[in-house]
Amino acid sequence: MVKTVRLLAAVMENEGMTFPLHLGVTEAGDGEDGRIKSALGIGALLCDGLGDTIRVSLSEAPEAEIPVARKLTEYIAQHSDAPYIPGEAAEEFDYLRPTRRRTHAVGNIGGEQPPVVLAFHWEGNDESDLQLLPDYIYTGRSLPEKRQAVPYILDADVWKGEANTYPAFNYNTMNEIDNSEATVKFLFLPYLLLDQASDIIKRHPEIVIISQSMHPNRLGEHRALVHQLMKEGITNPVIFFQHYAETEIEDLQIKAAADMGALVFDGFTDGICLLNQNNSIPTRLVESTAFGILQAGRLRTSKTEYISCPGCGRTLFDLTNTLAKVKAATSHLKGLKIGVMGCIVNGPGEMADADYGYVGAGRGKISLYKRKECIEKNIPEEEAVEKLIELIKLNGDWKE
Ligand code: SF4
Repeated sequence: MVKTVRLLAAVMENEGMTFPLHLGVTEAGDGEDGRIKSALGIGALLCDGLGDTIRVSLSEAPEAEIPVARKLTEYIAQHSDAPYIPGEAAEEFDYLRPTRRRTHAVGNIGGEQPPVVLAFHWEGNDESDLQLLPDYIYTGRSLPEKRQAVPYILDADVWKGEANTYPAFNYNTMNEIDNSEATVKFLFLPYLLLDQASDIIKRHPEIVIISQSMHPNRLGEHRALVHQLMKEGITNPVIFFQHYAETEIEDLQIKAAADMGALVFDGFTDGICLLNQNNSIPTRLVESTAFGILQAGRLRTSKTEYISCPGCGRTLFDLTNTLAKVKAATSHLKGLKIGVMGCIVNGPGEMADADYGYVGAGRGKISLYKRKECIEKNIPEEEAVEKLIELIKLNGDWKE
């Protein structure tokens, strides 16, 4: 969706056309998925000044859509007069057909590997979800007594080389990088200080840059840093650090996805680190938002993918409850794409890349699909979720 709108806008500009553009991510789903997918796609375009009207399409009651759309546009509008960040685009970057930025691998970060999730923990906010552990946990000045089964990151001036830990440097400590033996070194770095750090980065391929921005034009600063790295031929991986203080998970999902959208679609993302400096949102939800952003951008799969329509006058069953039932039965099937669509008129076409589909065929009747093929027609609705499970089992895609 982002690529097609970027291309469309470019062609229209060349042809002197000035028609307004409407933006929406179709079949975005419900809950966290629906909010993150919509904010990632629509946000990526609005941040670049593309789009005149939007629809956030959710598989929920229609009245749930408007508040999400308003939050998104209001958040983007807050940045509309943010100061310009001086910087130059890298020649090799193609905004209309972006590919992933070329980076070298530092451990499990960068290169051809999927982006990592770096969690930011502090006292009182220090338990990740055991089902969905982040790849690294930054704890700053000290290690917790009870460590989870992932590498930890400590500030370089207190790091003593403890097993399975790595140091994080910043502007004040970066001159110590030459003296450190660590095999992976993290460097918190805002673009405006890159000039002072670039010689050090060039000497140390083991540095992973954590792009930091406290600037009102946060996207501009993150982007400018990556462009400058590309211009200087620096291929160290970059993790984007995004800082919030939200009390509602929905606000965090919308803002973080909108801030990451352009960075995901530009191909710049080797990792993501979300910090929400407010204990009212549990750590596991902040981390789930980070994983959700990577999945919505099709960069990393960590859960079952659902493609579900928002429903309309053609919907032939209770979409919200049915989607909840399908999710309850299949949410452990990481990597599978399951479509839940209200009708056979548009459903099969719009879930074309799903592995399995649950589609309304008539009042109280469901048809089941395997990829684009209809396998069972007109099953009574009350039996359809069980039949879907049977179909997934029959094809060897089920896990207990
Ligand atoms: S046309 Fe069919 S697939 Fe599209 S929103 Fe309506 S019910 Fe869903």
